[in-house]
Amino acid sequence: MTYDPVRGMRDILPDEVGWWRLAEEKFREVARLYNYREIRFPILEATELFTRGIGESTDVVGKQMYTFPDRKGRSLTLRPEGTASAARAYLTAGLQVKEPFQKWFYIGPMFRYEKPQKGRSRQFHQYGIEAIGSLDPGLDAEVISLARSLMERLGLGGLRLRLNSIGCAKDREAYREALKEHFSDRISSMCTDCRRRYRDNPIRILDCKEEICRPHIESAPKSVDHLCAECREHLEGVRERLDFLGLGYELDYRLVRGLDYYTRTVFELSSDALGAQDSLIGGGRYDGLIESLGGPPTPAIGFAGGMERLVLALQEDGKIRPEGEPLDLFIATLGDEASRAGLKLAEEIRSAGLSVDLDHRGRSFRKQLNLANRLGASSLLVLGDEELESKEGKLKDLSSGKEEGVELISSGIIDRLRRKKGV
Ligand SMILES: [Zn+2]
Ligand SMILES: [Zn+2]
Repeated sequence: MTYDPVRGMRDILPDEVGWWRLAEEKFREVARLYNYREIRFPILEATELFTRGIGESTDVVGKQMYTFPDRKGRSLTLRPEGTASAARAYLTAGLQVKEPFQKWFYIGPMFRYEKPQKGRSRQFHQYGIEAIGSLDPGLDAEVISLARSLMERLGLGGLRLRLNSIGCAKDREAYREALKEHFSDRISSMCTDCRRRYRDNPIRILDCKEEICRPHIESAPKSVDHLCAECREHLEGVRERLDFLGLGYELDYRLVRGLDYYTRTVFELSSDALGAQDSLIGGGRYDGLIESLGGPPTPAIGFAGGMERLVLALQEDGKIRPEGEPLDLFIATLGDEASRAGLKLAEEIRSAGLSVDLDHRGRSFRKQLNLANRLGASSLLVLGDEELESKEGKLKDLSSGKEEGVELISSGIIDRLRRKKGV
């Protein structure tokens, strides 16, 4: 019998993990520069958090959640995204009273029941930012700048930032009506998804990529024409600050984002590494989310990006590559006694902070040498009966091939290896 991973779940094997760590480390680095602190929230939440927070009519909640009852019959859901959890965590910790302004980042697995394809699995991973407690357009500019700065540090070129404002809840209501009116005599010739969206949430029609729907969408009213004075001013404020920072963007009146909690600023950042229409990061304001979860009115903005897609972009187009994991020493052993002595020596050298490996499969001497080379060991020590008897061995530099005699005491070997490493 063999076991397969659950459909849409996959292993990230050690050869690939270097790319993941590279992306994660750069994200942590940039987050620190902007003073965003890490938060880790649970993978399971009460289902209601997402149905209320993200919206029942969205694809994520309507079709894609991993929801199941626990042993007491409570409905739980594997988190499909991070923002609802961040908003919940903010309230759980009482931060609305204690310290209402928070800047957070997170990295972790998310779960959506979608059709698995290249770059999309059911367990996927997101990195994200949440800045909670301010409506300042400067904060929008900061969050966007952080996203850009991450891509630049990863060496991803051809960056394109698209920006829109979908207004506050009231504006969205007016906009929804305008869209309903626009689509009312067109919807019968549009795709089935759009017909459903027309009923549930007509704003989502703008997301449709179907050819037959495109002309109807092209002529649709723009959200920016339905903004109240305050939201118009906010959008102007964001644009003014982006200009001031020299962050190029284009206004995209079709940009809406798929989740119900978005308000005002929405944006997407893409790189030509993956084709222009696929965004690497998407985000926006969610000024009403915390209130809808029972908290006080609390403006907030954030973004999220898929780690899988970021890693793909890095592998295809990034200017940086993961560093190897160098091995300082390989000990090749011949015979039982040498193998035991090697084990001990390895322990002592490791405790000095140097990496050591040795054979555990009784390989021949020649195969052990091959292994040492394959592992990229910088030095090799050979231990056999002769060396054990004389208490002296040879330390070989595997890049130059040079050999030097060493006493078989760990302190002497540690000194040599350290000198070689320059530490
Ligand atoms: Zn408004
Ligand atoms: Zn459509």
